[in-house]
Amino acid sequence: MKTINQNYINGEFKKINSTESLTLKNPTTEENIAQIYLSTPPEMNEAIECAAHAFESFSKTSIDERMNILQRIHDELLQQEDILIDLAVLEFGATIMTTKRRTKNAINLFLTIKEELKHYDFVKKDADSITIKEGVGVIGVIIPWNANLAHLCSNIAPAIALGCTLVIKPSEFNALETEAFLECLHRANVPKGVVNVVHGTGDVVGNVLTKHPLVNAISFIGSTKTGKIIFENSAKTIKRMTLELGGKSPTILLEDANLQEVIPHVLSSAYSNSGQACHAGSRLLVPQSKLAEVERLLIEHINRLKIGDPKDKETQIGPMINLTQFNTVQSYIKSGIDDGAKLLCGGLGKVEGFDKGYFVKPTVFICHNQTLKIVQEEIFGPVLCVLPYESEQEALVMANNTIFGLSAYVFSNNETKALEFAKQIRSGRVLINTSSSKAKHPPFGGMKQSGLGRMGGRYSMDAFCEIKSILF
Ligand code: NAD
Repeated sequence: MKTINQNYINGEFKKINSTESLTLKNPTTEENIAQIYLSTPPEMNEAIECAAHAFESFSKTSIDERMNILQRIHDELLQQEDILIDLAVLEFGATIMTTKRRTKNAINLFLTIKEELKHYDFVKKDADSITIKEGVGVIGVIIPWNANLAHLCSNIAPAIALGCTLVIKPSEFNALETEAFLECLHRANVPKGVVNVVHGTGDVVGNVLTKHPLVNAISFIGSTKTGKIIFENSAKTIKRMTLELGGKSPTILLEDANLQEVIPHVLSSAYSNSGQACHAGSRLLVPQSKLAEVERLLIEHINRLKIGDPKDKETQIGPMINLTQFNTVQSYIKSGIDDGAKLLCGGLGKVEGFDKGYFVKPTVFICHNQTLKIVQEEIFGPVLCVLPYESEQEALVMANNTIFGLSAYVFSNNETKALEFAKQIRSGRVLINTSSSKAKHPPFGGMKQSGLGRMGGRYSMDAFCEIKSILF
């Protein structure tokens, strides 16, 4: 069992000054894999002061210098790609195929941002004015456990590009991958104090980060519930905010959708990351007249899904990250049953044949009542709610009947019609006739209670800027 007992502060690994620790288990086998020590507020304060001090010089570095740093981090990460993948599979239980794709994208982001930096409009001159974009300062980053490396990279790359410095509070549950990432960062010779990482819990060190006056901006990725606490805490010092929060995204099958072709997309969205994905299409809206056929196809396809060891490249659904998450999903399944939703497949308990590991049965409910808890709340597990509709007008109202607005999926044989429908959905993105887009770094973020601001490629750079006018 590995011990994680050091933070990364001011370019050095520093021993955590606490006896409080957490044991991480392999979600596939339930074996103990790591003990992680939890930092104290003074350690977070030290990291913030170092980041503030480093900003004074780092904000003045040249674009070339920062492009070199981005390249060096990319190169170091690339050398450790396989190790990073193995650790994510080990501690999170994400399937190897998903993890490989995601790791590659995360590492490549340093090159994308390097390219953006070359052309970024830092200065715009007019006759009587100059508009300057400059780094926002010290950015406090707080991230969840469901795509650790992607979240680390998607914040560090744009922050470095803008000459900002960071203090990161990663999730307690990804300490092994974070440690391997930090070793790469250290070898990449990133200037001291530019990236600081403090392990610990949200209510202790995360709380300090969101309230500290030397922190200029917060980039938070996590649940809407925590996002609201962070928003409130950060308001006291008017921090710039990017909030990437939860979702309950609708997948809408319009009347003319080809059901045979569409169902694999429906499932790959709903059960993405074993259901632990913010953008999961967890509400499926189907024409009432097609409900019986959709039910039949869902069962047929779900019976073919490969559930099991995430290391196996055939596996499509792995375990929940930990027992807490397993129990949360179970309680939602129980509430669906108690509230009278029709259980089409799956249900309570572990997947048959899996005594060990936090494997939830891929579950589908047919729901005729939109107010049910399972229809309205984010479950973050492989649970799909099917909602029949009578008309496409009703489907639109149902799609928007949520506090969330992160993502949506529309399927139709008529792309023009799908586009018109997509424009009326209140969410940060809508995918048409696919569950995964090949678009290069489109803006990502949510409407309504799914968040604030946009990240992704150059949009992340914009999020980490202040704009100054100089007038003549
Ligand atoms: P969470 O909100 O429980 O925790 C996220 C992070 O916040 C963790 O690092 C946690 O330690 C920290 N935290 C908790 N309380 C805090 C506090 N009071 N002050 C400061 N920090 C605090 O979320 P989670 O369970 O780790 O992740 C799952 C959630 O993340 C889901 O809701 C999912 O939709 C969301 N998510 C959103 C996106 C997106 O881009 N919109 C992406 C991934 C995950």
